[in-house]
Amino acid sequence: MNSFSYTRVHDVATAVREMVGDNSAQFIAGGTNLIDLMKENVARPRRLIDITHLPFHTIEDTADGGLRLGALVTNADTAYHEQVEKRYPLLAKSILAGASAQLRNMATNGGNLLQRTRCYYFYDTATPCNKREPGTGCSALDGFNRMHAILGTSDQCIATHPSDMCVALAALEAVVRVTGKNGDRTIPFADFHRLPGDTPQLDTNLRPDELITAIDLPAKGFADHYMYLKVRDRQSYAFALVSVAAALEMDGDIITEARLALGGVAHKPWRDREAEALLSGKRAAKENFQQAAETVVRGAQGFGHNTFKIELAKRAVVRAFQQAAAMEQ
Ligand SMILES: Cc1cc2nc3c(=O)[nH]c(=O)nc-3n(C[C@H](O)[C@H](O)[C@H](O)COP(=O)(O)OP(=O)(O)OC[C@H]3O[C@@H](n4cnc5c(N)ncnc54)[C@H](O)[C@@H]3O)c2cc1C
Ligand code: SF4
Repeated sequence: MNSFSYTRVHDVATAVREMVGDNSAQFIAGGTNLIDLMKENVARPRRLIDITHLPFHTIEDTADGGLRLGALVTNADTAYHEQVEKRYPLLAKSILAGASAQLRNMATNGGNLLQRTRCYYFYDTATPCNKREPGTGCSALDGFNRMHAILGTSDQCIATHPSDMCVALAALEAVVRVTGKNGDRTIPFADFHRLPGDTPQLDTNLRPDELITAIDLPAKGFADHYMYLKVRDRQSYAFALVSVAAALEMDGDIITEARLALGGVAHKPWRDREAEALLSGKRAAKENFQQAAETVVRGAQGFGHNTFKIELAKRAVVRAFQQAAAMEQ
């Protein structure tokens, strides 16, 4: 048994102070991921800092016409918030595609961004895993890798980021607001999560003492033409094999702006600006969506059990864009 202490903090300064210089401490919010990791002996924090009483429980308008989602608002309250449903239905749909109703009632927005991979070997402490124990090797490379990544992999790790919410946030160009011992800063969503490279133990660019306070959504929500398509083994309670957040701005049947991000294919939500640019000024036609889909997988590599994902990703991109374009106004 691993013993640990538990401290509930009530202000941000104390929360940050509790973390500074102690890499055995960890924040806990809804606990839906961290407690599982502790039970499996994958995470072994010596101190748990409960942040649920910090003041990050609101959803508010921002001065530039966007919306600020507090880090401690639950996934359920975010998805069903009137302004999110109306202005950012892509985000609402992606959240509701994840986990189960009970989990979404506990899970927080900050925790969703920081949930860890679902790679079986990461959870199995009897097997080598560079993410869990750097330098031990990657069991998935030659193992059962059906859930694993096809884009942006390294010879150190081929894990995927499991979040659905984050795929929509990538497409919407959200910004993560954080605070730490050096003060506040903002991180564009594209720079928040990392590719594995030689440091697969690092999932994000958040510093150890930093706390996520909120996620800002820009004014543009693509509420008229959007789709979150999640392909998975079961209709609920299953992580994505491939997911696609597709959003379009249209003038008649001409695309004026496209956004595209994929989940289940990489160590981070995979946004592809080249594929998006290809669609700009084009008709919302299947052949153009197919061209965008081919572009997305241009660097894809399968590892045996997961090679089917390359074709699956292409088809999912085409279908998501077709459904987004076909929405009646
Ligand atoms: C059975 C099951 C199925 C699931 N299916 C899906 C799915 O299909 N799609 C999907 O997207 N997700 C799924 N999830 C994951 C779920 O969405 C996450 O577990 C949840 O979002 C994590 O939020 P939390 O508040 O519980 O985080 P916690 O477990 O409390 O924390 C997770 C991590 O985030 C850190 N942390 C939390 N909040 C902050 C903060 N504000 N600042 C800094 N660090 C912080 C913690 O230190 C910890 O490292 C599933 C989970 C389970 C258990
Ligand atoms: S894919 Fe990454 S998380 Fe999975 S075993 Fe390899 S190093 Fe570990």
